[in-house]
Amino acid sequence: MSFESIPEILEILQIETLYQQQPLQRLLNCWEEVVGKVIATHTQPISIEREVLWVATSSAAWAQNLTFERQRLLKKLNKILPTPLVDIRFSTARWQRTKKKSSPQQNISPESHPSYLGNILDSNQNIHSLPKNPQTAFANWAQTIKARSQSLPLCPKCKSPTPKGELERWGVCSICAAKSF
Ligand SMILES: [Zn+2]
Repeated sequence: MSFESIPEILEILQIETLYQQQPLQRLLNCWEEVVGKVIATHTQPISIEREVLWVATSSAAWAQNLTFERQRLLKKLNKILPTPLVDIRFSTARWQRTKKKSSPQQNISPESHPSYLGNILDSNQNIHSLPKNPQTAFANWAQTIKARSQSLPLCPKCKSPTPKGELERWGVCSICAAKSF
């Protein structure tokens, strides 16, 4: 789930209200349902002009395949749309590589990773102030490791301090878990 700012949400709502009554919007809402998930990821309905639906496709092969399927799709779509379509044209011309539906992986937060240590590091280390010399740098590092180790449970296999998330997921530390894979 992504967190959009309030002005952005308001803008989306306004646009949605504006287009709610439009046939294209109605079509967009049911597009994936009609064509199926696979086709939906390779297509983007662009416009309806004189009862002809224009659909952008990710490749020429998709455009060709779907052209053969268009009668079947027309039948399905005309059951839903208030004004029936007479034809569908598929073309790669207006395909955008960056579709709005992005992969869900982009929204994974560091907190969801099993090795995430919360703010332990932040409280012991100020990233913005660089150490004056290597000795200070090492001392800082050692202090961080020590502080981190003291607050962490031990891996039952190798007895090294392990983030809680790793133990919850694998029962051992990430290193031991990697060895057993
Ligand atoms: Zn271990």
